[in-house]
Amino acid sequence: MNAKLDSTVTARPVTRDTFDQVLVPTYAPAAMVPVRGSGLDLWDQTGKHYLDFTSGIAVNSLGHCHPVLVDVLTKQINNLWHLGNGYTNEPVLRLALALTEATFADRAFFCNSGAEANEAALKLARKYAHTKFGAHKSRIISCFSSFHGRTLFTVSVGGQAKYTEGFEPLPPSIDHIAYNDIEAARAAIGDDVCAVIVEPVQGEGGVVPGNPEFLKELRALCDKTGALLIFDEVQCGMGRTGALFAYMGYGVTPDILTAAKALGNGYPIGAMLTTNELAQTLAVGTHGTTYGGNPLAATVALSVLETINTPAFLARVKEASVSTIAMLQGLITDYPQVFSIVRGSGLLLGLVVSDAWKGRAKDIQKAAEAQGLMVLIAGMDVVRLAPALIVSDEQIAEAGRLLRAAIDGMLKA
Ligand SMILES: *Cc1c(COP(=O)(O)O)cnc(C)c1O
Repeated sequence: MNAKLDSTVTARPVTRDTFDQVLVPTYAPAAMVPVRGSGLDLWDQTGKHYLDFTSGIAVNSLGHCHPVLVDVLTKQINNLWHLGNGYTNEPVLRLALALTEATFADRAFFCNSGAEANEAALKLARKYAHTKFGAHKSRIISCFSSFHGRTLFTVSVGGQAKYTEGFEPLPPSIDHIAYNDIEAARAAIGDDVCAVIVEPVQGEGGVVPGNPEFLKELRALCDKTGALLIFDEVQCGMGRTGALFAYMGYGVTPDILTAAKALGNGYPIGAMLTTNELAQTLAVGTHGTTYGGNPLAATVALSVLETINTPAFLARVKEASVSTIAMLQGLITDYPQVFSIVRGSGLLLGLVVSDAWKGRAKDIQKAAEAQGLMVLIAGMDVVRLAPALIVSDEQIAEAGRLLRAAIDGMLKA
C-alpha cells in the first residue's frame, strides 16, 4: 500500500471523543454515535437499537433510508449531480410544478436550509416594500420564542435573545411581540412594517400552536398595512400537522411560505414559495445560491412531496397524532408529579414537565435514550416528540413503555 493511502482516515476508528477533538464545539451531541437507520429504527456503533422519535428534528418524516427515496436518489446519482444556475434541470422544474400546484404559491425559490429560505423571504419583503412604498417601510415584526435560523439576519429576527448575544451589531428595524397576543400585534403592525414572520406552530420555542384568531388577525393587519405575511413552516410543514402545510389547516394564507427540514427527508433543501407578483421582486441577479435546486435535492424532495401529499397519508398522520396524544395523556395521568400537559399539532408534540420537574427535560431525554428511545427537547421544560410520519401504533405504544421505564428509573434514583 502506498504511503498516501496508508495515511487516509477512511478506515480509522472514530468515536464520540473525536467530536471533542476536531469539531467546532457548537453542539453537545449524545454519547452514542448512530451508524445505521431504517424507518424509525436506529443502531449505534455498539449495535444498540433505538426507537427514533426525533426524525432528526422533524426532518426524516418518511423515516431513515425510505426505500422509494433511496431508489430515486440512486437513479439520479447515476445521472446528474450538479449544474449551477447557468442551467436549469428537470428535477427542479418538476418540483416547482408540484409545490405550486399543491399550494397557494405560483413560484418557488430553492436553497439549502430553513435559514436560507427565511433569509430569501425577508430579503424579498424588504425589497418589495422598498420598491413599492419607499425606504421607510422596512420594519419586520416577529414573535418572542420564535426560531427562524442561524444566519445573522434570521437569528436577529428570531425571538430568542440568547442566540444573538455577542453577535452585535445586529440588522436594525426588527421588533418582537408575544406569540398569540392579538393586542400586541395590533399595536406593533403599523404602516412602516414590511413583513410579519410567524411559525404557525412554534417548534423550538416549546411546541406552541398558533391560535387561529391570532393568525387571522396577522393576515388582516398585513392586508391593512401592505406588509407581507411570512409563514415559517420549516418545522411544521410537509405533513407534520396532518395538513400538507399548517396554513391549510388554519385557513389563513400567507404571502410567502418557507419550507426545509422534512422537504428533503435529510437531503438538504429549502424552499421559499410565493405569488407571481411578489416573485418579480427578486429579478435576475438580485438573489441566489450555488446549490439551490440541485438535481439530487430536487429529486428527493419531489418524491417526498408525492408520498406525503395524499389524503390517505395525511389522514394517517392525524390518526397517529390521536394515538400519540392518548399515550402521552396516559403518562400525565400516571405521573402527575412529572408531567403537566401535552400540546402541539399532528406529530409535533410537546410534553410539558410539571413545576416540580422544571428544568429537567434534558434529564428525561437522557434517561429515555438509555432505555433505547430518542426524543427531543424544546427548551428545558418540554420533552418534544417528532416521530417520522410513518410511525405505527405499535411503535407509539413502545415509545410509551420506554418513557415509563425511563421515568420509573429516575423516580427510583
Ligand atoms: C429548524 C428551523 C429553521 C432553520 O432551519 P435550518 O435548516 O437549520 O437553517 C427555521 N425555522 C424553523 C421554524 C425551524 O424549526
